[in-house]
Amino acid sequence: MVSNEFMFTIFYILVALCFIAPPREFVSAGLTVQNLLSNYLGSEDMDFTSYHLKRTTCTVVLHSLLPLGYYVGLGLVSLYNDYDNGLYILDPGRAGLAVNCFLLFCVGMAACGFTIARYWSWNNWNNHPFCKVLSKHGGPWRAVASSINIEFRRISKFSSIIGGTRLYITDSWIIKCTTYNIHIAHKPDVHMTIIATEDHDFSHESNMAVQYLNIQVSSINPSVKPFIIRLLSTDYGDLREKIQAPIRNARNIIIHQSLTDRFLEAFREQVELNEKFFLAETDEEPEPCIGCMQQASNIKLQKVCAPSDEGDCVTCFCRPMWCLECMGKWFASRQDQTRPDTWLSSTSPCPTCRSHFCMLDVCVVSRR
Ligand SMILES: [Zn+2]
Ligand SMILES: [Zn+2]
Ligand SMILES: [Zn+2]
Repeated sequence: MVSNEFMFTIFYILVALCFIAPPREFVSAGLTVQNLLSNYLGSEDMDFTSYHLKRTTCTVVLHSLLPLGYYVGLGLVSLYNDYDNGLYILDPGRAGLAVNCFLLFCVGMAACGFTIARYWSWNNWNNHPFCKVLSKHGGPWRAVASSINIEFRRISKFSSIIGGTRLYITDSWIIKCTTYNIHIAHKPDVHMTIIATEDHDFSHESNMAVQYLNIQVSSINPSVKPFIIRLLSTDYGDLREKIQAPIRNARNIIIHQSLTDRFLEAFREQVELNEKFFLAETDEEPEPCIGCMQQASNIKLQKVCAPSDEGDCVTCFCRPMWCLECMGKWFASRQDQTRPDTWLSSTSPCPTCRSHFCMLDVCVVSRR
């Protein structure tokens, strides 16, 4: 017969593992450190740094208490099971050497947890590894932290949550929050390299084949240790847009990007082969793109795919108002979303005057 102690051990190990690396069901039931201590941790959006300092510290303490929790739980189960036999676990005088060693181990783990927490939070968090790294970014760590907090509140940040790990990219920082630590790198200092991909035929989150990319972030700042960020390959386009620096793909790993990203790449390649549109000497510099307000407008639509009286395309007389990226996104958005194979050969109306154009009519603006 299976003893109650054995059943309790299996149950406790399962619960402890789920607590350390919560599966989706645990997260949605709110059984995570973040949720249980949400009052103490405060709001991640309002004070990102303090939230994660407290979160990592509480996680260390709670996880270090798990073995002791097991010891006490097992003692209670034995007590309930068989009063006479059970007492041996709680009574050190009658316990075996192994039980005493285990008790010592449990108390030691808990003591380590509390010591680390006390050390980190001592002196207003000055000893926390995250604060030590922040203080190496030209200024006291609090000043750097408050600029991170401000950037984190902007909705333009990139975020990706996979399992218990959160990745955020703000305007100038790359931040990876793991269970016990926070990795951070200043964007202008980093090189990023795709080092591996993982293909999964089936993901229980999306019921589709997915690909994860592992990208190494190395900083020229010696106090920032290189770390690896992991994200879905369909988020790669957003990541690249947010990083705005080349990401090295030294091993020529094939990335399964989202449909729009793959289309944008093909669109860009085609447009680079197309005829150019040359501005006259007297023309002013084009204004910023009205789609993104960031890039200069560098696209002019002119019918060059066929003689003017042939085909579906119509000449557009609009001045350059869009950048290549936004024009590509616009073109993709006007296509039949269920038939991506037709996109390259199809047409789209001009965003301003509605005259139809095809990909051959998209010309990059340049000066002679
Ligand atoms: Zn644009
Ligand atoms: Zn037009
Ligand atoms: Zn055309």
